[in-house]
Amino acid sequence: MRDTEYHRLLGMNRDAFEELEAHLEERTYDGQTYRHVPDYRRGVERGTTLIDDTIVRGFPKVPRTLVLSDGVPERFADQPDDRIAVEEKLNGYNVRVVRLDGERLAFTRSGMICPFTTRIIERLVDFEDLFEQYPKAMVCGEMIGPENPYTAHDYPEVDSLAFRAFDWRDRESGEPLPVETRRERYETFDIPQTRLFGRFEVDEAATEIRRLIEKLDAEDREGVIMKSLDGTAQLKYTTSAANQGDLAYAFSLPFDYGQPFMFRRLIREGFQSVEWDESDAVARERAHELGEAILLSMHETIETVDAGDPVGERHTVRASPETVDVLFEHLERQGLTIDIEADRREDGDRVCTFLKQTRSTIDKTRNYLDGHIVKE
Ligand code: ATP
Ligand code: MG
Repeated sequence: MRDTEYHRLLGMNRDAFEELEAHLEERTYDGQTYRHVPDYRRGVERGTTLIDDTIVRGFPKVPRTLVLSDGVPERFADQPDDRIAVEEKLNGYNVRVVRLDGERLAFTRSGMICPFTTRIIERLVDFEDLFEQYPKAMVCGEMIGPENPYTAHDYPEVDSLAFRAFDWRDRESGEPLPVETRRERYETFDIPQTRLFGRFEVDEAATEIRRLIEKLDAEDREGVIMKSLDGTAQLKYTTSAANQGDLAYAFSLPFDYGQPFMFRRLIREGFQSVEWDESDAVARERAHELGEAILLSMHETIETVDAGDPVGERHTVRASPETVDVLFEHLERQGLTIDIEADRREDGDRVCTFLKQTRSTIDKTRNYLDGHIVKE
């Protein structure tokens, strides 16, 4: 297709599109070439894909507030409704499912077609009727559970991997359905969704959310996403458990996670501690946990490297042997080094634990252990 038409679909002028084109990443899936927007850009969502005469919009970045009491009214003051919907924020990986040319494809956050998700989701959810009736739908949701190649987090209700829908948008325009319509439709098609905690008056929401967050925190769950009822405005807020869990993970691979990643999570803890008016004892308890999250995970990594073992992101997947093969091809094509640590068959599936090696952490830690002198 000529680029002129892509620019129209994206709602950009020709010059802006030309500028965007230089930043597109080209890939292939199943013999077909496509291009996607791998990072944040002006005027188009990250993760937008140009494929086969059409486009698949990226999922919009969800802004965050550090303070509920003022951030929530600030974000939603201009909305037409007095109320907002509050849904659970699940900790997994973002996926968008669309039907193109009769084929269902699953895209991950940055706009790549994920061959693993595309296959495994067919086992988990039946989208047949939905796309029959709404061919231009973009089903947006989170893949959650311990057995996946990207973000593992345990949920007591998920043994291996599950899908939860949290949004429904038009594939080309990115326009969302209102929350209520969306929830009803998914209900009709029997598609599992993220929990809706309720609809609250904007002015009272902060108090309600504070209570919800305390409960979610105790259950080691991630947080909430607030949404205007028309689905257009979103806002996120996370539990201390999620902040600290991320910190522990990042500090287990300290030279592979950008420092802003750590800094931002530390700052969130500071603001939460103040907004919740913590007593000295409670604030100390938080400080203690935060220290453990940072230091104990780092300690373990340094010891592992010292023993001569590799470190990295460890994942387990359970799928057909063909699906596992295409996953490894997909990851290796992105330049990742994969060590397979365990590999067995169970009920016809291949269950594989592997490590994505994180080179910077391995090399830098080795260097420091060898006495490398730093000028700082
Ligand atoms: P990005 O915002 O670019 O996706 P991020 O790491 O900052 O990256 P998160 O902090 O996880 O993203 O927050 C946004 C993500 O939360 C969404 O992209 C989506 O995958 C996920 N999410 C989980 N539950 C929901 C929900 N109920 N509604 C909307 N998004 C949800
Ligand atoms: Mg997330």
